[in-house]
Amino acid sequence: MDLTFSESELAFRDDLRAWFRAHAPAPEPQGDELAHFCWRRDYQRLLARDGWAAVHWPARYGGRGATLTESAIFFVELGRHGAPMMANVLGLLLAGPTIMSWGTDAQKERHLGPILTAEEIWCQGFSEPDAGSDLASLKTRARRERGHWVVTGQKVWTSGAQHSKWCMLLARTDPDAPRHKGLTYFLMDMEQDAVDVRPLRQITGSSEFNELFIDGAVISDEQVLGGVGNGWGVALTTLMNERAGLAFFLQVRLRQLLDRLLREAADRGLLADQAVAERLGELHVRAEVLRLTAYRGLTTVQKYGQPGPEGSLTKWMWSDANQRLTQLAADLLGPQALAAGGSWGYELLRARGNSIEGGTTEVLKNIVAERVLGLPKSR
Ligand SMILES: Cc1cc2nc3c(=O)[nH]c(=O)nc-3n(C[C@H](O)[C@H](O)[C@H](O)COP(=O)(O)OP(=O)(O)OC[C@H]3O[C@@H](n4cnc5c(N)ncnc54)[C@H](O)[C@@H]3O)c2cc1C
Repeated sequence: MDLTFSESELAFRDDLRAWFRAHAPAPEPQGDELAHFCWRRDYQRLLARDGWAAVHWPARYGGRGATLTESAIFFVELGRHGAPMMANVLGLLLAGPTIMSWGTDAQKERHLGPILTAEEIWCQGFSEPDAGSDLASLKTRARRERGHWVVTGQKVWTSGAQHSKWCMLLARTDPDAPRHKGLTYFLMDMEQDAVDVRPLRQITGSSEFNELFIDGAVISDEQVLGGVGNGWGVALTTLMNERAGLAFFLQVRLRQLLDRLLREAADRGLLADQAVAERLGELHVRAEVLRLTAYRGLTTVQKYGQPGPEGSLTKWMWSDANQRLTQLAADLLGPQALAAGGSWGYELLRARGNSIEGGTTEVLKNIVAERVLGLPKSR
């Protein structure tokens, strides 16, 4: 692993830093979900205007054709400058690259521009009440009727659906085919009466995700991505893109949260307590291991052209460290720090979902056990 940046990577970083310094984000709105979404959307528009919203996209689609290292640098600097994660993160990281890989020229022409500028927000309609980790058991059904596809079913945990114009929808088109073979990937227009978005209130009090009730939604052939019956392959492209880059953003945010906790603990004179110092020290080591593992993952992709198990490791390590960190904040700072509406209270409660979203810790452990340690398969 070589952690030294090349000349061009350093130039990329310096340009980006100059841009962030010149475009400091407005203060983060508190307690108003819509205002918070608009804050993220407007900042994405600013990034897009100057060609920074999707550095990893090819230049012909409005990106910068950034290398993996430059992409990582982007997320590190985004976190470091306290800038918000782009409002259309699922469009930029998942839908866009999946459309670039599988889409027709017409689909690319239609969808990529509005993703970049956050004109059209995207959500990911994969999970269902009985299909999460075991995604291939999904039941949402798409049937051919009068030259269209008609979709009926239920999705759940659909993040950002309340703001979305489009949904990456995975549905079963052939119930008689083997589980993975009877699926098709659709680009579903959310703006139709047959799609009912119902917010789910989370433990934090906010409604980041939703249930989707789909009762006869109509989708044209032009909105099939990657061919009928090929949904599993297309969905894998989406899932492989899910963690790319995010590991860097998450480790920077973890570092920032830890530094904040250190400052607040120091202000309260808590660092002299050896038990406290030990717990903070342990978290510091975890944050460093996470940072270096993220770089090791990058090196693997650069050397072998595909992600190694580090992607699963960093997600698992980050969720574990973030839950420990927010719990330690609660232990050290006490009930005052956890007052409703406060930032530590939000962080503590939000961290519970970290070990579920984007692959549960148990499933990630299975991947590491089977693919890294070569242990027998669980099933
Ligand atoms: C904040 C958040 C945002 C999300 N956003 C989206 C979104 O935008 N779009 C979307 O489609 N989904 C989204 N999800 C859903 C997420 O992908 C699923 O929750 C996740 O895949 C787990 O599925 P599940 O909830 O059905 O749990 P299940 O798969 O039913 O798992 C239940 C428990 O069993 C364990 N388990 C399951 N299988 C195994 C196994 N083989 N070995 C060992 N243990 C196992 C799990 O680890 C878990 O503890 C989101 C989830 C969260 C928390």
